[in-house]
Amino acid sequence: DTITVKTLAEKMRINAGEVIKKLMELGTLATINQEIDADTATIVANEMGFEVQVKVELDKEAQLMMKEPEDDAENLRWRPPVVTIMGHVDHGKTSLLDAIRHTHVTASEEGGITQHIGAYQVEHKGRKITFVDTPGHAAFTAMRARGAKVTDIAIVVIAADDGVMPQTVEAINHARAADVPIIVAINKIDKPGADPEKVKRELTEYNLVPEAWGGDTIFVEVSAKEKLNLPELLEMILLVAEVGEFKANPNRAARGTVIEAELDKGRGPVATVLVQNGTLRVGDFIIAGVAYGKVRAMMDYTGRRVSKAGPSTPVEVLGFSGVPPAGELFYTVEDEKFGKQLIDERFTKKREEEFRLSAPKISLDDLFNQIQEGQVKELNIIIKADVQGSVEAVRQSLEQMGNSEVRVNVIHGGVGAITESDIMLASASNAIIIGFNVRPVENARNAVETEKVDIRLYRIIYDAIEDIKKAMSGLLEPEY
Ligand code: GDP
Repeated sequence: DTITVKTLAEKMRINAGEVIKKLMELGTLATINQEIDADTATIVANEMGFEVQVKVELDKEAQLMMKEPEDDAENLRWRPPVVTIMGHVDHGKTSLLDAIRHTHVTASEEGGITQHIGAYQVEHKGRKITFVDTPGHAAFTAMRARGAKVTDIAIVVIAADDGVMPQTVEAINHARAADVPIIVAINKIDKPGADPEKVKRELTEYNLVPEAWGGDTIFVEVSAKEKLNLPELLEMILLVAEVGEFKANPNRAARGTVIEAELDKGRGPVATVLVQNGTLRVGDFIIAGVAYGKVRAMMDYTGRRVSKAGPSTPVEVLGFSGVPPAGELFYTVEDEKFGKQLIDERFTKKREEEFRLSAPKISLDDLFNQIQEGQVKELNIIIKADVQGSVEAVRQSLEQMGNSEVRVNVIHGGVGAITESDIMLASASNAIIIGFNVRPVENARNAVETEKVDIRLYRIIYDAIEDIKKAMSGLLEPEY
């Protein structure tokens, strides 16, 4: 937290010069517009006989987190485990997901599955299990990079006729990095060349050792094709879930993760979300990244409309203003006004970020700071104008402008529009381009964007010189 000298002085109704003097006594050189930190401001104010209360204004993002208290243990209920299937390509991830879906989704529901959604639930012995269908550890880790922790249990699938392959190892490492328990499913045991024992031997190298061999890894030998041992696999998932004690509080505002989302021509933005805590209801105000809206309708994985979805339930949500990215966390907020302010804040932050990323290497606006940080000792300029006379006039004025700290170099000057090669030169030499009665040529536009060069267009030479003078005068050591 900071305050400018000027604001501090105003608050104390004291001349800013007095504050600057006091700061100097305390060993800090500051100008009137300089930001000083809360501690320094407090010392100065105290010295001048004022009391200071430092108010920390939390932004909405922080307030949102404050609204997310830990749940008391007594409010927590068992929730279905969320399972992801990972493994080497062609080892049967998709087949296994499909086989489980077809065997364990009841027939009536099966008929209702009209379109694919990124997650589904099955029931085994009266307990539900949620499968998230984002096969591949890349998607898994992309989600994790966003801060989403969706998966409770990872099933690493290995084809019994192929054994441990590079992506098997990656899957193991990704699951471990996420601290997610692993169940090994040795698949394709129906195949003539299947050798599950060999797979087990190979896996000991990665510290996945079956219980029978003195380890603690659960192995299940399955065939997605022949639908062999699928109930055993589900049994093991529930066993691991039992140990993991996956719980959530259904009686609170919902939050969770966007599994996938797209723009549907008829229905608008459609997002498949996984509720991870609380209960999501139709009519809730929901926020995911900068997408937001009132939940207009929800469908479960069978396509049936539902009015609410509790922990570990995947649902399709209609009502978002835009398409949130997969892996984005969603929250519901009771106070819609707060929600809109939060979105506003996120938009601003996003713009700032984009702006920062696309900020020119050197710009007149930022010249002063860049010099102060010692990043700039020379101001390189390229001048393009409609007539040679203008080029020369500006060159002379600018080159006389240098001072002991910054030298002005006109590295190139010429007649004609600003071309791609001007931009490349500016980019390579960290230069600013000044144009008089000229503009960038059409095909230079892309280069402008990618090279992030500051281009200033003027009609009057005087304006250009004034602008640069102003930027330069910021370079001069402040005097008191
Ligand atoms: P993914 O790339 O890991 O999703 O693998 P797929 O599920 O697409 O399966 C790759 C191939 O292996 C397909 O041709 C499947 O039909 C076949 N396959 C999958 N599971 C089995 C199985 O249990 N037994 C046999 N024989 N083939 C299988």
